[in-house]
Amino acid sequence: MFELPQAHTIIEPFKIKVVEPIPMPTLKERRHALAAAHYNLFNLHSSVVTFDLLTDSGTAAMSAEQWAAVMRGDESYAGSRSYERFEAAVQDVTGLPFVIPTHQGRSAEFLLMRAMLRPGQLVLGNTHFDTTRANVEGAGAVAVDLPSPATKDTAALHPFKGDIDLEALERTLTKEKGKVALVILTVTNNSVGGQPASLANARAASESCRRHGVPFFLDCARFAENCWFIKQREAGQRERPVALIARDLFQVADGALMSMKKDAFGNIGGFLALRNRGLAEAVRSLMVVTEGFPTYGGLAGRDLDALAVGLKEVLDEHYLAYRVRSVEYFGQGLEQAGLPTVKPWGGHAVYVDAARALPHVKPLQYPGQSLAVALYEHIGIRGVEVGSVMLGTRNPKTGEESPAPGELVRLAMPRRVYTQSHVDCMVELAGHLVPHLPELKGYEITWQPDVLRHFTCRFKPL
Ligand SMILES: *Cc1c(COP(=O)(O)O)cnc(C)c1O
Repeated sequence: MFELPQAHTIIEPFKIKVVEPIPMPTLKERRHALAAAHYNLFNLHSSVVTFDLLTDSGTAAMSAEQWAAVMRGDESYAGSRSYERFEAAVQDVTGLPFVIPTHQGRSAEFLLMRAMLRPGQLVLGNTHFDTTRANVEGAGAVAVDLPSPATKDTAALHPFKGDIDLEALERTLTKEKGKVALVILTVTNNSVGGQPASLANARAASESCRRHGVPFFLDCARFAENCWFIKQREAGQRERPVALIARDLFQVADGALMSMKKDAFGNIGGFLALRNRGLAEAVRSLMVVTEGFPTYGGLAGRDLDALAVGLKEVLDEHYLAYRVRSVEYFGQGLEQAGLPTVKPWGGHAVYVDAARALPHVKPLQYPGQSLAVALYEHIGIRGVEVGSVMLGTRNPKTGEESPAPGELVRLAMPRRVYTQSHVDCMVELAGHLVPHLPELKGYEITWQPDVLRHFTCRFKPL
């Protein structure tokens, strides 16, 4: 009798039951599509995109169990069995008693901010996601980011770059006594590259909040990826099931909001879960106007059922090992091919550093856009620029622009969608692109709207 060593290769822990062909446009077709899209990748039709890495939101492959749950959906207007199953799944994973479904994450944000905030108040967080910030501001309050000081160095291999800065939190809670309405810890911290926050950080932040009488919330769109990082990286967590780590995380929160288009494998959906009955009642009376009756919250019964299954499935540790490893594998591959990336790699995306890849393109000639266009033109990858196009600032009077702090291209990985050979192919072609990087030209914006220009603006190659 003998036993083989454990395999180093981490496999996709599923087999494929349904397939969808991916488009294979030629170079000529891609160039034509780019020109027709005015070099803005948001304008491309998905029918000309081979590897769609625009986002990990709502793009997951549902499992056989989720599709079976779709068939069990109970479409009763009120009190459906689908809601009961949804409520039980959220309660089981989070331990939070009051569960409110919403049609996606931002509607949970909208409801929470309208119910909790008064004009002039402050909301503190590790880094507010852009829709969270917009909903805080929409309620007349101010969103203040207190990210970990470790985020300043994009190459530093800090294990918990998603932490909130505890000193700054305590300082702000003391200085702004009475003004802070809410603290939100986003796990993982999307805006700093899907970096995790530690359990110790969440506990300490919650403790600070409790001392100051301020509610502590989680924006838990990627809670399972975050808890997997805690298991791998935090002292004393290695032997503990991720589901228990997640319960510990939610235990210190007064509530949580989630975009279930991320770690619940949903194509649509979200929730707001609360400990406080009075707040839950306030939200339920508000939501009828925008989301509908409190037991369906803008979703069909079949969605609620698929999400209830997905929320439990994501805690499967074979899945999480594969998920985080496959993002890391992609990051390593791109580095070896010669593309500089932001490290450590996060839970849901690899960020390529276009400022380092294209040092000859000036920030206001948009190196991130140039690289994103080249990745599509030559490899068929659709990523998204996260640099001066998206985050640069413009003086509304003079039109003068200031560049963003970084010039990145985000390549987000949809969940359970692409396989290792897809990644191998992208990496192989990236290796062929790298020697040509010095030939890439910058871009000029020929038309732009007043706000959120990256979605619709038009470019011209220089
Ligand atoms: C996606 C996301 C949201 C918004 O959720 P939607 O479902 O897109 O409305 C909020 N917070 C974080 C951290 C997210 O990643």
